[in-house]
Amino acid sequence: MGEGEFKERVFKDFHKEEVVELASRLIKIPSVNPPGDTSKIAAFVKNYLEEEGVTVELCEPAEKKVNLIAEIGEKGSDRVLVLNGHLDVVPIGDRSRWSFDPFSGEVRDGYLYGRGASDMKGGLAGIIYAFKKLVKFEDRLKGRLKLVCVADEETGGTHGAAYLVEKGKALGSSVLIAEPTGMDLINIGEKGAIWAKIIVKGIPGHGSLSPFIGDNAIVKSVNLIRELMKITEMKAELPKDLLDVAEYSRNLLEKSVSREASKAIDHPTINFGIIKGGTKVNIIPDRCELEIDVRVPIGLSAAEITSKIREIVEKYGEVEFASAGEPNYTAPSSEIVKVVEKNVKEIIGIDPKPFLEWASSDARHFRKADIPTIHYGPAEMEGIHGYNERVKVEDLINAAKVYLGAAIDYLT
Ligand SMILES: [Zn+2]
Repeated sequence: MGEGEFKERVFKDFHKEEVVELASRLIKIPSVNPPGDTSKIAAFVKNYLEEEGVTVELCEPAEKKVNLIAEIGEKGSDRVLVLNGHLDVVPIGDRSRWSFDPFSGEVRDGYLYGRGASDMKGGLAGIIYAFKKLVKFEDRLKGRLKLVCVADEETGGTHGAAYLVEKGKALGSSVLIAEPTGMDLINIGEKGAIWAKIIVKGIPGHGSLSPFIGDNAIVKSVNLIRELMKITEMKAELPKDLLDVAEYSRNLLEKSVSREASKAIDHPTINFGIIKGGTKVNIIPDRCELEIDVRVPIGLSAAEITSKIREIVEKYGEVEFASAGEPNYTAPSSEIVKVVEKNVKEIIGIDPKPFLEWASSDARHFRKADIPTIHYGPAEMEGIHGYNERVKVEDLINAAKVYLGAAIDYLT
């Protein structure tokens, strides 16, 4: 049986209603983070796979942060495709702003509804289903297929992907993450993130004599903010193989958000998310705290930006860095990009474009271990991390087919 024939045979056993049913059942198990308890949903997936006779490992690095790992194929092979997705979802926010039950998993008018439909229980159902379909054909695989469903993605991945990569449990030669991109896009890179707290100190005094006495920590912070804003004027020098991808990503952001927003692709961004200062209206404040979230584009390094921040803050106070992650990407010419492109063309009939993302994801943990990693998954961007999240049933099914086709191509 040749590869084409083999692929055909596996696809004969693909039943689209089973993928939709699985995604709906995943939505019905809330796994909201925080608190990020994934024990129930992981137990459900374990059970679902064990029906097919696979050995499933659960791994709980912190209480109730349960990760799931399963593997089939040629034992000992170092050709390993990892299918990855996160089990947790963000909170629903104000329930009254949803026009349906966020945990109903209802299917109607061509859509699947609920928290996680797009981010990312739809994609998750696709990789779990594709994995399950290959279990009975595992003798045919030239290499290993690993399914890694993680906890903790929405709060940074410390007890999920980062932990599993560090312990060697989620390593492979390529990683396909079913995060939402939409059917026509493949996410190949993302910005780094620096989170820091700045403390500005002043000299207190009676408010009735300000600004002639004392040293107002809030006023100093205003000047500090102005100086820090200049970081966004730094421009990244992109690697050559990303020039076209970056151009495409800027256009994408310009169309979907605004021309101003498209600068985020090759400039740092800075958000002053929290500011706390002062104790009473008639006291000159002697302390002001600011928390910042800076995103580093590919082509600049987190190290150079942190030293720039240090240099600016020095004149005003002190800075503590909570985290400083480097920007990261997988070359557009990588095998995993090509394999997914080919299957999207074959199955959906569109030519997907690689792009760069401005937010960060678990991909960085895999790329840190030098593993080519991409995102491809069904998405309706509107409801993601917002209200009334949903996903097109057709996209959900097509994505599952792409995962299955890509896994077959990669491993035969
Ligand atoms: Zn996600």
